[in-house]
Amino acid sequence: MISKKVSVLCCLIGLFCCGCSQTAADVSQGLTTAADEPVTATIFAMDTYMTLTAYGKGAQEAIEQGQTCIETLDAMLSTGLDTSEVSRVNQNGSGILSEDAANILTRALEISAETDGAFNPLMYPIMEAWGFPTQNYRVPDEKELDALLERIDTSQVAFDAQSGAVTFLREGMEMDLGGIAKGYTSAKLMDLFASCGVTSGMVSLGGNVQVLGCKPDGTNWRIALQNPDGSDNYLGVLETSDMAVITSGGYERYFEQDGVTYHHIIDPSTGFPADSGLCSVTIVSADGTLADGLSTALFVMGLEKSIAFWQTHSENFDAIFLTDDDQLYVTASIAEDFVDAYYDVTVIEEG
Ligand code: ADP
Ligand code: MG
Repeated sequence: MISKKVSVLCCLIGLFCCGCSQTAADVSQGLTTAADEPVTATIFAMDTYMTLTAYGKGAQEAIEQGQTCIETLDAMLSTGLDTSEVSRVNQNGSGILSEDAANILTRALEISAETDGAFNPLMYPIMEAWGFPTQNYRVPDEKELDALLERIDTSQVAFDAQSGAVTFLREGMEMDLGGIAKGYTSAKLMDLFASCGVTSGMVSLGGNVQVLGCKPDGTNWRIALQNPDGSDNYLGVLETSDMAVITSGGYERYFEQDGVTYHHIIDPSTGFPADSGLCSVTIVSADGTLADGLSTALFVMGLEKSIAFWQTHSENFDAIFLTDDDQLYVTASIAEDFVDAYYDVTVIEEG
């Protein structure tokens, strides 16, 4: 009796499995085809065009959730939107940040400390003095900028990362998380893609790229770096997987007055656009937030200090530097992955 039952059960399981495997084969065939077809979206947010790409199972959901995620972070962090969390804190001199904003400020203050202040999340008063937010550009004089430097002193922020409570201890202090927001966003998008089951995806947030896994065919992603000269000749191509590849350059946002170019990356020690001899800095790191913060910071620091910084933090990131006189430098760990370089490459060795 028992054996009969068992045999019937086996038979049912057999049938079920058979039916199942038939269906599974059909579906998986469908998915194999779909895996080669990306689901993509292009949106305008954080003042730039963003492209999201995901392959395979969960891709549709990942892209939909990704768009919502970007919109939420933009509405939270935008200095151009009066109702954003950042703007409210800037208007009131204090406030409670939500989890994401508190996470970003935490990382921003950490990176500021690690880079000896080259990255500074309080640049807004100085950005305003130069007219960057409104595009009513002007050149402030040294006296005006000197006075504003008081307002970007990170020691004058009382911040409790746990509760998100932030208070500026001096009048006129204002946050600007624009130097790190896109990297935090791309990192969050990769987590979100993964939680949707996506194993192959890419986001480009205004040229700042982060990739999840490899391409669907199992080979590395090929990320072309823009040439600051505006030509179609790429600086080179980085072959990589599971990395953020984030670039800062003075050529991205600037204005000209009396024949002089003034760009949007400010040296916090002077209040003037950084003039460190670097034309662009690309950071390659598994940590998108770090990559964005460091791309801005190392642009301010210049080549020599950046090399020393990399030599003591080489486990966390790699970098590609282009100097104002077209010298291209690549850190040793990614030298072989950086191909089709437009200029001769100097490899930066470990210290
Ligand atoms: P982009 O946002 O154009 O990709 P960055 O990541 O280098 O480039 O960020 C530049 C932005 O960061 C500026 O527009 C400004 O909002 C802010 N910023 C400028 N100078 C600094 C600095 N020294 N530290 C941190 N943020 C800065
Ligand atoms: Mg940056």
